[in-house]
Amino acid sequence: MMDRALVTIEPAPRRRLPDWIRQRVPGGKRYAHLKNVLRESKLHTVCEEAKCPNMGECWSHGAATFMLMGDVCTRRCSFCAVDKGRPGHLDAAEPEHVATIVSAMQLDYCVLTSVTRDDLPDQGADHIARTIEAIHQRLPLCKLEMLIPDFRGEAACVERVVNTPLAVLAHNMETVPRLYKPVRPGAVYERSLRVLELAKEFRRDILTKSGLMLGLGETMEEVIETMADLRAIGCDLLTLGQYLQPSARLLPVVRYLPPAEFDELGRFARALGFADVASGPFVRSSYHADAMVKATV
Ligand code: SF4
Repeated sequence: MMDRALVTIEPAPRRRLPDWIRQRVPGGKRYAHLKNVLRESKLHTVCEEAKCPNMGECWSHGAATFMLMGDVCTRRCSFCAVDKGRPGHLDAAEPEHVATIVSAMQLDYCVLTSVTRDDLPDQGADHIARTIEAIHQRLPLCKLEMLIPDFRGEAACVERVVNTPLAVLAHNMETVPRLYKPVRPGAVYERSLRVLELAKEFRRDILTKSGLMLGLGETMEEVIETMADLRAIGCDLLTLGQYLQPSARLLPVVRYLPPAEFDELGRFARALGFADVASGPFVRSSYHADAMVKATV
């Protein structure tokens, strides 16, 4: 196993964004409508909290990723724009509240995610599961995808979440093992792999999904090794996207991968046996998530 002694990330000299990284200005009727729905419902989305570059496009298609358990995380991933610190109380009414909004939006595919709540006895696993169950009760035909934290690898937490009407259990590896310390302090590479493996052990029919951000100094060999590790534990779906620095206080971009490299990695991933792969500069975990699942049936 690679020596994971202290690794620092050398920033690329600040330079103009490459031509293929163009921010898209959000707008349009559906975008405005969804924005109002979310404002009035006081629901958090990872789209806004993490400053996702696809928000304009996704919201104009009526797709948003709801973030559960508040907007303060107990972890300190150095690429993530979500607020960090001591979270507030868990809103026990949130599961029903989210289900009401999702059902009002008549979504046929709904992606959920959450901050990490190391402060809670079950790290929020029961709260997440009750949200999935509440949505399913109101909208049985809505396919549900949940991007979970690592639950510190606790099998009972994973079991509680997958033993629900969930279609896709996602957990992002985010980067390669050598870069875990600077990028995902508080996370452990093997533990994250185990979380995805546990999901399949508890429910063979569930689809599992993971994602990597590229451009943080990883080599192509390391990316391919991580893809092979994911396939070895039966992971079905993979997303590969370009890391974009959400703010100057977060990790700098080391390299912007050209679209051709994403295409090549995408081909490699399919050859490794992933049921579907989304690979491109703007790809994010929940980007066109419904299309990926449709590709597997
Ligand atoms: S655990 Fe998730 S929400 Fe929390 S800091 Fe890391 S990436 Fe952000």
